Amino acid sequence: MKKVNVTINGIQVYVPADYTILQAAREVHIDIPTLCFLKDVNEMGCCRMCVVEVKGSKTLQAACVHPVKEGMEVLTHSAKVMKARKATLELILSNHDGDCQTCTRSWMDCELQVLANKLSVDTIRFQGNPKERLPIDEGISIVRNNNKCILCRRCVSACKKIQTVSVIDTINRGYSTVIGSPFEMPLGETPCVNCGQCINACPVAALAERNQTQEVWDMITDPDLHVIVQTAPAVRAALGEEFRMGIGHAVTGKMATALKMMGFDKVLDTDTGADLTIMEEGTELINRIQNGGTLPLITSCSPGWIKFCEHNFPDLLDNLSTCKSPHMMFGAILKTYYAEKEGIDPDKIRVVSIMPCTAKKFEAQRPEMECDGQRDVDVVLTTRELARMIYDAGIDFVNLGDSDFDDPFGNASGAGVIFGTTGGVMEAALRTVYEVVTGEQTDSIDYEQVRGLEGIKIATIKIGDLEVRAAAAHGLGNARKLLEAVRAGEQFHFIEIMACPGGCINGGGQPLWNSSVRSWRNIRQERAAALYSEDKNSHIRKSHNNPSIKKLYKEFLGAPCEEKSHHLLHTHYNARGYYED
Ligand code: SF4
Ligand code: SF4
Ligand code: SF4
Repeated sequence: MKKVNVTINGIQVYVPADYTILQAAREVHIDIPTLCFLKDVNEMGCCRMCVVEVKGSKTLQAACVHPVKEGMEVLTHSAKVMKARKATLELILSNHDGDCQTCTRSWMDCELQVLANKLSVDTIRFQGNPKERLPIDEGISIVRNNNKCILCRRCVSACKKIQTVSVIDTINRGYSTVIGSPFEMPLGETPCVNCGQCINACPVAALAERNQTQEVWDMITDPDLHVIVQTAPAVRAALGEEFRMGIGHAVTGKMATALKMMGFDKVLDTDTGADLTIMEEGTELINRIQNGGTLPLITSCSPGWIKFCEHNFPDLLDNLSTCKSPHMMFGAILKTYYAEKEGIDPDKIRVVSIMPCTAKKFEAQRPEMECDGQRDVDVVLTTRELARMIYDAGIDFVNLGDSDFDDPFGNASGAGVIFGTTGGVMEAALRTVYEVVTGEQTDSIDYEQVRGLEGIKIATIKIGDLEVRAAAAHGLGNARKLLEAVRAGEQFHFIEIMACPGGCINGGGQPLWNSSVRSWRNIRQERAAALYSEDKNSHIRKSHNNPSIKKLYKEFLGAPCEEKSHHLLHTHYNARGYYED
């Protein structure tokens, strides 16, 4: 790449010619404030927060989109620049519903608040345009509050460009501009897949998950109920971030201790459900390959992906694995096998899932997710909601000791842990499928071909005489590309799809980071590394070797994909039109 010389605040820097001023300034440790900018998601220079002086230019330029040029001279913090930024921020604030005291983002790093502090905005000189309060769209997973929206359009880009769902956009003009859905329908009635990537992109509290923490406190404090909590793999890789413990730091033991202190009757690991999923899905894959079933088999753990498939690829519904997702499978087992074993009336059991995912809230209330009149899972909380409850309970999380998950399921396998990242479900399945098909035990179980953050990973894996052609896609834009290739005739045996870029580690319910961190640090990679490290250090790294899974089949289920497991652990999906009735 050709390089150019640029002078920023008198400091010379030699940078690639395709850099923006914002990128060049970072090379000399100058932080230009941004608001609408989110690297690789939203780069449009609309908020004017990053304006700088460029010698020879009559107007201020937006550093996030303005390219560098040989000999360019830039001032990033001149008096003129500071004055313009401050005035722009005051104008944004003057139209913002700023009830910070009761706002969830105030507690969790609101980018607008941080910026007001950084720019020393202590008064607002402008009178906002008085507007009627806009209605709040409260969906099953997502809550949209346009009164707090600052029109940065980061959510629009996340939905359109990254997820290719495109159910939100700017509507109206001038002062009436808002972010809206088609025909201003509630998001829940559109093809929104509840992935929450718009929440992750939003710098303020205009988008959030539905808060169900009080529902869970009410369950915990009801003496008649036996409340079980299960936690997904990706939660442990990120929960510590809410307590300022750094990125990529697994807090499995502290999390288990905190959940016990909060009063849950049993603290269990969704990784057990992941091990169960592998037994079922691995068997399904082998059956389909050996008996001429529909291929490729496509994973079904990600509920955002399932809804996307129902709306956009109904012709591929038969390709979906019939397996319920791990926490749903585990919920069904808890209300049957566990209830029977422990002598508890299933009507008195409540299952709470802590998930990195907002779409799991939608999944939990789907009619398909129940068995014999029992909901598989009663409430889903995100990682962020769990953190709020830990704060509510006055628990000093950082200084907690470690605990194990409770019996009778205990700790799960490392294969279950890596479910939380892109390629992980596939790797976990291959570890089991290899040994079942060949009858050989192997230590070569790190399938590097399906690891990493490339959008679509394709690998051919030799299993005995069979060459399994596999692919993993993460982020729905990548999924769409891969599935168009399948429609066009490209052959695969097995495909893993996760709705969120990076997989569950970057789910819509995970801790939020300011764009100045998120744009420049590979948070997904750091969280994934925490999971791979936990897998590496696991005692058991293959799902079929998990002793509690072996016992479950022996005592209750029989064999994978047989009658009982089909009844409890499998389901089916249906095509959806563009709008819900
Ligand atoms: S979004 Fe930020 S600035 Fe607005 S009310 Fe919430 S914390 Fe305050
Ligand atoms: S939840 Fe996902 S699909 Fe729905 S609006 Fe947000 S980004 Fe789009
Ligand atoms: S909802 Fe959030 S991300 Fe979307 S435009 Fe408004 S402030 Fe920006």
